[in-house]
Amino acid sequence: MGAVLATVVLFFSGIELLNLTLILIALAVGSVIGAIAARKVKMTAMPQLVALFNGVGGGAAALVAVVEYMVHGEADLLFLIFTVATVIIGAVAFSGSIVTYLKLQELMTSRPVVIPLGAPITILVAIATLAGGVWLVLDPQDWLLVALLALSLLFGVLFVLPVGGADVPIVISLLNAMTGLAVAASGYVLDNVLLLIAGTLVGASGTLLTTLMAKAMGRPLTSTLFGAFTAKATGAVGTGEDRPVRSGSANDVAIMLGFANKVILVPGYGLAVAQAQNTLRELAEMLTERGVEVDYAIHPVAGRMPGHMNVLLAEANVPYDQLKEMDEINPEFSSTDVVLVVGANDVVNPAARTDKTAPIYGMPILNVDAAQQVVFLKRSMRPGFAGIENAVLFDPKTTLLFGDAKDSLTKVVASLKNI
Ligand code: NDP
Repeated sequence: MGAVLATVVLFFSGIELLNLTLILIALAVGSVIGAIAARKVKMTAMPQLVALFNGVGGGAAALVAVVEYMVHGEADLLFLIFTVATVIIGAVAFSGSIVTYLKLQELMTSRPVVIPLGAPITILVAIATLAGGVWLVLDPQDWLLVALLALSLLFGVLFVLPVGGADVPIVISLLNAMTGLAVAASGYVLDNVLLLIAGTLVGASGTLLTTLMAKAMGRPLTSTLFGAFTAKATGAVGTGEDRPVRSGSANDVAIMLGFANKVILVPGYGLAVAQAQNTLRELAEMLTERGVEVDYAIHPVAGRMPGHMNVLLAEANVPYDQLKEMDEINPEFSSTDVVLVVGANDVVNPAARTDKTAPIYGMPILNVDAAQQVVFLKRSMRPGFAGIENAVLFDPKTTLLFGDAKDSLTKVVASLKNI
């Protein structure tokens, strides 16, 4: 909103606007694409759209700084410092956000990507970027600006490639904050106070949100910030297809649930993909009518955006008092007869407690493995977003009901009516 105001104000500021037609065409094209994309996006694809919009903002700020440098050239020292800051932060936010987009959109692997000698290369690129920035301030030259832009773009890619699992939501927020800072710095370069204020607000609130998210996820912020400098190859992915699992029918699951005293429902990303929230609520209501105690366990990063499950279940009119946050529900699992995991995986994966090489290591999880029986509704043995095997799937007390979550739940509801 601040950026929109800053743009509108320019038209009335008395500044002579060159290429007015081109500016208006660009504004119209950008607004139409943005509005259509935002209206059409599925809820499950929201974070990658935010990442893309964010990245474009950072990239635009970097380009503005490049153009201003070309126009004003070797202006005063402060102008050069802010130009360099805008180029570096904006370009890192741009290329980092593009990689985040590709990961979330599954156009590339969502697992951490560790390239050979990745850590030393990243350190070298970081040093070269900073040194190039200082050099440009002291001795402005056009080729140096181009090199700085290229190095910053490269650093953004190297920075985000090794990020995976629980660090992804944190890095999205961090890149958002960086875009805010880049816009603020470009406000100085353009002598536009509104941009400076709007950018600073985004930068400050984004930094605060990043810190809070890192704290909630039990990750030191340094593991996200410096992960790329220390990244090592992680454990191999397993599809687990060579190990035995126990699968059951919808009728088996209906019997388990219908005769339980206490059931906990764990919704995840797959529930959102299948749009099965209403059917899950219907099942919960039927169980409650049968006298079964039912709660929903809500993990802070279940799904693909913060608060995703709360919104989805609120949409389906699930009573708010049945939604239990992680800290509240975790002590309950050991006294629970059946946990029904609907399209969740990483948020119930005990590798977060035990496997130091896992990209989710250290993330607090829902301890479903403490329950008497666990039922997973999923389509295959494919892993979740973090790309790692989940030992609970192979536990003898686990039953897998394969299929789309909505189809499976509909069948369980139908079976339960006959029990
Ligand atoms: P996961 O991605 O770990 O698991 C989702 C599961 O749903 C998969 O096992 C998949 O298995 C299953 N699934 C997908 N579609 C369907 C369907 N139609 N019917 C049934 N099952 C389906 O999700 P979680 O919610 O457990 O964890 C969230 C992950 O996303 C974490 O790693 C988190 O860090 C990350 N993340 C979270 C963000 C946030 O802010 N909340 C933002 C970005 C990333 P199968 O394919 O076999 O069906």
